[in-house]
Amino acid sequence: MSYVDEVIDLVVEKNPAQPEFHQAVKEVLESLRVVIEANEAAYRKDALLERLVTPERQLLFRVPWVDDKGQVHVNNAFRVQFNSAIGPYKGGLRLHPSVNLGIIKFLGFEQIFKNSLTGLPIGGGKGGSDFDPKGKSDREVMAFCQSFMTELCKYIGADTDVPAGDIGTGAREIGYMFGQYKRIRGLYEGVLTGKGLSYGGSLARTEATGYGLLYLTEEMLKCNGHDIKGKTVAVSGSGNVAIYATQKAQQLGAKVVTVSDSTGWVYDKDGIDVALLKEVKEVKRARLTEYAKARPGAEYHEGRGVWTIKCDVALPCATQNELHLEDAKALVAGGCIAVAEGANMPTTMEATEYLQENGVLFAPGKAANAGGVATSALEMSQNSERLSWTFEEVDGKLKNIMVNIFHNLDEAAKKYGMEGNYVAGANIAGFLKVADAMTAQGIV
Ligand code: NDP
Repeated sequence: MSYVDEVIDLVVEKNPAQPEFHQAVKEVLESLRVVIEANEAAYRKDALLERLVTPERQLLFRVPWVDDKGQVHVNNAFRVQFNSAIGPYKGGLRLHPSVNLGIIKFLGFEQIFKNSLTGLPIGGGKGGSDFDPKGKSDREVMAFCQSFMTELCKYIGADTDVPAGDIGTGAREIGYMFGQYKRIRGLYEGVLTGKGLSYGGSLARTEATGYGLLYLTEEMLKCNGHDIKGKTVAVSGSGNVAIYATQKAQQLGAKVVTVSDSTGWVYDKDGIDVALLKEVKEVKRARLTEYAKARPGAEYHEGRGVWTIKCDVALPCATQNELHLEDAKALVAGGCIAVAEGANMPTTMEATEYLQENGVLFAPGKAANAGGVATSALEMSQNSERLSWTFEEVDGKLKNIMVNIFHNLDEAAKKYGMEGNYVAGANIAGFLKVADAMTAQGIV
């Protein structure tokens, strides 16, 4: 049996009931097969793949907190410090009822390669809890965040592990967590990114993932003879990534006609009104029905359905496994030329393969949404320097990083005989740097 197959089997055997983690490992290792096979004896001797798929450290802890009625609740919380070969662990904290160890491990594993692709010195990690901030008062969210950080603060720091936001963890949650870290550890340091501007946050961090997604998509289209200008775009999600992807797409001259949330979706043939979307989602924290009510001509539909709309470019920006094989078929039938993942692993493996086989340009999340973590690393640099850069400076660096990421993965795919396969290109380019650093640092 080949080394890659052995390690995939090992992961399934040693990590039961973690399907998302199995999926992520399988997807990465399959596309690294040609690179691993070219150096199999050395990698096998060093157990490089076994070390790569096993987190350096996994923290599991309980988070007790008291609600507004005096009732005590207990949530499960996780921090997986996956790989620190190229820098301190870096990756977001997800607060969502669906969070479990397998989800955090899949996200942490993907983060290793994404962070490597940015070209910046950051290792891979991820964390979170099954706490649901939705419907909670500010005081309840603060109580949770303080209790969560009371435990987590023992294991993180500006030079060891620097968490950030993710689904359910926005500026409010980061603020409460930062306050508690500072209070307990007595350190005013860049231990979290995604901070508010008044206490060490970076301009353009809020916009970074969505903007970065569009910078990479624009470059991918350009290098394949297309122009983003004038294209019709379908976006899913209506959170941080979706909102700023929509905004940048429109600034670049495209028309975004859909957004969605966990209960339904909107088709707005005249183009999404970003100011209204922000009002509904960022200010009122309301459902998309409110958007449709305020916007004549926009249609609201319950359930899934974004990918049934005819579009040139599809940008899944909600959550994992939200674009299935039947969605991929609908996109191809509708003439879609490119899919770029704003979310982490939103496209199932079968859907990805179908899109690639049918000539759709496909940019995987670990490259396409790396703008968020790249700008988080720029926030770390500013914190270390005790300086704040202008919006234009950060945005300019972000654009350069995204364009470079695209060319790195394009070249890696070409070098290994898989031209146009950006999934393989991203995994290979991300892997080689980490493998090199792990090898240089000995058996640790
Ligand atoms: P938000 O919490 O701001 O938004 C998530 C959006 O996805 C919401 O519209 C939410 O709807 C929707 N959603 C969540 N779960 C489901 C579901 N099961 N089915 C359908 N829709 C769903 O998160 P972000 O925008 O920050 O993150 C979105 C994705 O991008 C995630 O995969 C995240 O890991 C990834 N990402 C985020 C980065 C960032 O900087 N924010 C960086 C890199 C990746 P509702 O409001 O109803 O819950």
